Amino acid sequence: MRRIVLFGYRGTGKTAIGTVLARRLGVPFLDTDALIEQQSGRTIPEIFRKDDEERFRTLEREAIAGLPARDIVIGTGGGVVMDPKNMEHLRAQSTCVLLTAEIATIRRRLARAPRPPLTSLPADQEIAEVIARRRHNYAAAADFCVDTSRTTNEEAAGRILGLLEHGTIPAPVREAAAKWFAATPLPAPEREQLQSLLTGPGHDPRTRFLGVAGWPCGHSRSPLLFNRLFEKYQLDCHYTRFEDPSISAIMETARSIDAKGLSVTIPFKQDVMACLDEIDDAARQIGAINTVVFACGEAYGCNTDWLGIKKPLAGHKGARAVLLGAGGVAAAAAYALMDLGMEVTILNRTPEKARALAERSGCRWGAWDDFDRTNPDLVVNATPVGMQPDTKSPLRDDQLKKEMTVFDLVYTPPVTPLITAARKAGCATIIGTEVFIHQAREQFRLFFGIDVPDTVIREILA
Ligand code: NAP
Repeated sequence: MRRIVLFGYRGTGKTAIGTVLARRLGVPFLDTDALIEQQSGRTIPEIFRKDDEERFRTLEREAIAGLPARDIVIGTGGGVVMDPKNMEHLRAQSTCVLLTAEIATIRRRLARAPRPPLTSLPADQEIAEVIARRRHNYAAAADFCVDTSRTTNEEAAGRILGLLEHGTIPAPVREAAAKWFAATPLPAPEREQLQSLLTGPGHDPRTRFLGVAGWPCGHSRSPLLFNRLFEKYQLDCHYTRFEDPSISAIMETARSIDAKGLSVTIPFKQDVMACLDEIDDAARQIGAINTVVFACGEAYGCNTDWLGIKKPLAGHKGARAVLLGAGGVAAAAAYALMDLGMEVTILNRTPEKARALAERSGCRWGAWDDFDRTNPDLVVNATPVGMQPDTKSPLRDDQLKKEMTVFDLVYTPPVTPLITAARKAGCATIIGTEVFIHQAREQFRLFFGIDVPDTVIREILA
């Protein structure tokens, strides 16, 4: 039996429901808090009082790393979801169930078994605030969600057993989804595998689906990357392509098969916003979404492109930057550069668009020909100039100075005409593939709470 791991805020019933569930499955129940107390010979309040939270988290990490891999139900501490290493250990070979409950229910339950407060706030406010702070980590921890507000422990355990046996997608819905995918340009081997997982011998109710949403998206390397990561981290998930001209149709299918997440690409990064329940602040400011996480019936959208652009520029804080282009990816780049405290000038073929983006991002702006007056430390190309089959560079060779760092967001080919010219001029260079690597890492963290080292992603993509 795969492990069953119960996540959730304190008072959502992890220990009580986990005990019943384990009894009904005929396997042991292990509570990570009880294990920490047993292994350290101290109670948790004692650990917090005599040491600190840091010490508690270390003990927690050690206890979790040593948990058995099979035939067990595990109840976890409410804060484990915040640590990517814990998530890596807990998610491996496990079905993860997020328990939720209304604030009033949690307060009532906690009043019966008081625990040390997490903040100095009144009870209701503390519960609301801590859940809000952790909610995206809880979403990442959820293969399935069970609201325990109005259930007895037996009922909640019964519901979990039902999910393990039947999943959340009725057979006719799976068949309808399989038909929908069959009408998309999914390559034959990928289509056969997906059909088998949805309606054939490969079907397992616990398998979760993810995919790239685009039109077209046959070129995307995300299916290769994510499916290899699922193998590495032993996640019962499958990543496919949702390739259709309508984002509403894609979202409908994704919701119908209770998908765990989507990577969103061209041309849906703006349009998908109308299909979501919640949008991250950064994504709203950028005006584009490239990641959708589904949990407990809600779809949450965010943007990891800007994080993928920011990461390779971490050593360039405060630089004088020129951003070429004012389209979709330029908006994410402007957000990343401003977040790094840079002085940013946006130059665009159509200056009015540069002005509009500059005004909403707090940057300067100008026309393409203004480049020679800007004297930048950093140049970021966010236009498609130089993208295969184009062989041009957006700048003349004499505009490149060896003191500059040149970052080309175009990644086909990996070494673009701009990068070649910049290297010839002695500039430091960053290639567009770096953005894909870092944004995918952030996306995986949003989907599963696990932090994948860059080296692992590089090896898979090599
Ligand atoms: P977009 O929304 O269509 O914007 C294109 C921008 O480039 C516009 O500002 C446009 O200027 C300008 N432009 C187009 N052709 C030009 C030309 N011949 N000369 C000068 N400027 C030109 O496209 P996008 O989604 O931002 O994508 C831009 C590039 O970034 C693409 O090559 C894409 O592959 C790449 N990209 C890379 C990553 C990554 O992970 N590395 C992620 C996303 C995108 P006007 O306003 O005058 O039309």
